[in-house]
Amino acid sequence: MSYFDKILIANRGEIARRIIRTCKHVGIRTVAVYSEADVDAPFVEEADEAVCIGPAQAKKSYLDIERVIQVAKETEAKAIHPGYGFLSENPVFVRRCEEEGIVFIGPSARIIELMGSKIEARRQMQAAGVPVVPGWDGKLASVEEALFIAESLGYPLMLKASAGGGGIGMQLVHTPDELQKAFDSTMQRAASYFGDGTLFLEKWISNPRHIEVQVACDAQGNAVHLFERECSVQRRNQKVIEESPSPYLDENTRAELLETALRGVKQIGYVTVGTMEFIFDDKKNFYFLEMNTRLQVEHPVTEEITGLDLVEWQIRLAAGEPLPLQQENIKRNGHAMECRLYAEDPQTFFPSPGTLTRLHIPENDVRLDFAVIEGSVVTPFYDPMIGKIITHGHDRADAIRKMEKVLETCRVEGVKTNTPLLQKVMRDEEFRKGQYTTRFLDKLLV
Ligand code: ADP
Ligand code: ADP
Ligand code: MG
Repeated sequence: MSYFDKILIANRGEIARRIIRTCKHVGIRTVAVYSEADVDAPFVEEADEAVCIGPAQAKKSYLDIERVIQVAKETEAKAIHPGYGFLSENPVFVRRCEEEGIVFIGPSARIIELMGSKIEARRQMQAAGVPVVPGWDGKLASVEEALFIAESLGYPLMLKASAGGGGIGMQLVHTPDELQKAFDSTMQRAASYFGDGTLFLEKWISNPRHIEVQVACDAQGNAVHLFERECSVQRRNQKVIEESPSPYLDENTRAELLETALRGVKQIGYVTVGTMEFIFDDKKNFYFLEMNTRLQVEHPVTEEITGLDLVEWQIRLAAGEPLPLQQENIKRNGHAMECRLYAEDPQTFFPSPGTLTRLHIPENDVRLDFAVIEGSVVTPFYDPMIGKIITHGHDRADAIRKMEKVLETCRVEGVKTNTPLLQKVMRDEEFRKGQYTTRFLDKLLV
């Protein structure tokens, strides 16, 4: 592939390594940018070129738009891959790339802006006839207005930040009293994390499952899905284990879900790889939650069952190529499962930074997408996820069996990790039967 000679990767950790891997495979040179805290990180070593862009604090390095653009120009990188998190969903950054004639590997600033607002995304999806979680799509101006609208919607409700992400900026409220108490703090949290305190209200779905659809679209107007991912094992509304196919879906519901997701992306004229997130209730009704306009942390699950390289697809689509495959040629095979390995206390979820004095994971029959190697330092500055363990089996039981084996034999020392929790999940009867909801981990921990 020769679309771009050189790509700058505006990210770090496992996803930077993941992008480098595909670039090497297709013959594209890579430029890593890194903070002072990441000098010894494997991705810095593995890229063809690497430039330090500032101190550890993300604001002064990975989030410094002008510095990243400057390095892209100096190194003559023709495109920027943003990974996930950081600048990946930042329309200001995308506009700056557009102005400088650098290709942003992702959708346009307009689409990112549209889907970056959960309120606007809900409106767009409703226009396409995609069911959204019952709620109120206005911006809540005051706590009085929130209380008034909550009364008509009925409790329990989810008070949500329109700009939220990463499970941050939402609060479940059961009563007017709880809403009153949560309003100011949720708004302040949203303003400080996302620079936008806009809040709205959604009905709280009880016993929910999070199931999302991987989509890919080209500039010629074609759209395909790459099946679903089940992501209901969560802590603090953030995913910990993902799998595909979802054990909850029958063929009819699956077909309806996949078709609905495609209807949604066609409505907004989406281009490139993206994810439509849905929430299911216990009667198999599903509702649109949000769209993530980037590569997802859990994309390897989809790659394992389809045998496709989503980073390569992103690069080709960003270069203006048509979709590499048509829907009928996208097949799935077996079952894939991913565990996110976090350097954190498995009970309290507090991050556990430190030096990895030992990191030994058998590499047989498993895919390891890791940020670190033995001897790496896990710093307190960024997300504590140190890697992802992905297994692929001929069926779900086989994928679980393989995962259990890896977790049993892996040795991580120097930092606390969530391995004991992951093992507990793999052994759990409810999980093994596939009968779990987003409340599963909380129940497992008591
Ligand atoms: P996914 O939907 O791909 O599973 P997550 O919600 O777990 O993604 O978030 C992906 C990564 O991006 C995580 O490292 C998370 O901390 C980070 N992240 C997500 N949303 C934001 C945001 N709005 N601002 C900063 N970081 C974010
Ligand atoms: P984020 O942008 O932080 O990823 P999402 O809207 O995608 O936010 O929600 C993240 C998770 O929070 C969902 O997967 C689900 O577990 C929970 N959640 C969100 N909205 C609701 C709701 N209305 N009812 C129940 N759970 C919800
Ligand atoms: Mg989400």
